[in-house]
Amino acid sequence: MVSYGLRKPRKNLMRNLTYILTLIVLVGCSGEQSTGLDEDVLKEKKYNWRLVTSWPKNYPGLGMAPERIADLVEEMSNGQMTITVYGAEEQVPAFGVFDAVSSGSHQMGHSGGYFWKGKVPAAQFFTSVPFGLTADEINAWVYRGGGLELWREIYQPFNIYPIPAGNTGTQMFGWFNKEINSLADIKGLKMRIPGIGGEVLKEAGGIPVTLPGGELFTALQTGVIDATEWVGPYNDLTFGFHQAAKYYYYPGWHEPGPMLELLINLDAWNSLPKHLQVIIETASKAVNQDMLDEYLARNNQALTELVDVHGVELRRLPDDVIEEFRLISNKILDDLAKDDENIAKVYESYKNFKKDVSEYHKISEDAFVEARNK
Ligand code: CA
Repeated sequence: MVSYGLRKPRKNLMRNLTYILTLIVLVGCSGEQSTGLDEDVLKEKKYNWRLVTSWPKNYPGLGMAPERIADLVEEMSNGQMTITVYGAEEQVPAFGVFDAVSSGSHQMGHSGGYFWKGKVPAAQFFTSVPFGLTADEINAWVYRGGGLELWREIYQPFNIYPIPAGNTGTQMFGWFNKEINSLADIKGLKMRIPGIGGEVLKEAGGIPVTLPGGELFTALQTGVIDATEWVGPYNDLTFGFHQAAKYYYYPGWHEPGPMLELLINLDAWNSLPKHLQVIIETASKAVNQDMLDEYLARNNQALTELVDVHGVELRRLPDDVIEEFRLISNKILDDLAKDDENIAKVYESYKNFKKDVSEYHKISEDAFVEARNK
């Protein structure tokens, strides 16, 4: 009994010594292990971010893309990250998204780069430029042709990390109250048309205006503007433009395949653990394609309704008007590249890619679609 009584404290002492030695070893290694511990903490940390957009809340296509990204990120991260999406004007104006993300007042935004042409002229190439790349082509340029690297370089000084996040496919030229039979009909025409498309219209004698989508119907109905472009039948039907204008013109030479952007404050992005960055990039890539699929699946049904039910008059722009717009576009793009170092760099890459892809499409997709549609 006595010996047992003596042995027990001794055993405890040995256990305590072993524990203390283990602690010493662990503390001694703490320099190497701190990163691992930080990563463990980051794996558990909750992120509740806010995302502002240039679109009406839950707007079909455009407005649903950020909602779907938010849903996917929450699911894929098992609830570690939640993103609250705000429609235009709820927290910042439609065209205040870039500044909100740049300043860090909001971690994320969803919009189109051509809205920032006054601040970042080269951003327009990452949305759409007249007679430029189609949706498939801009995806290939951005993801596989060097576009994304340039985009991130151009936005870096604004402390923004851009991610491709949606595409509407080829748009319509838009809604007009009078027929366009020649270039003379463009003179003095006050039209809502953003980006370089607007500059082309101006050069052709028109008056371009930039207004957020939510203001277009009233502007058109009250005569503040004579014409407007927006997206295509699927979206245009929801805004009811057919109640304010009779003629619906195509093709959308000014926006052949506009890519939308998820904007992320660079400091916020860098604060994320790697797995959440991968989740956001992957969710955005899925939605980038999903939005295009949605538009392609819905556009013709909406167009049929506009024409058959609402009596909209569908019109193709005359060839000579399209050709004039094309010549003006090329000149404007060349001039922009002379004045702006960033545009010169981006345009060079964009132009070369477009040439390559157009050459191949001539004997692949273009030739096939022509044969199929005969
Ligand atoms: Ca548009």
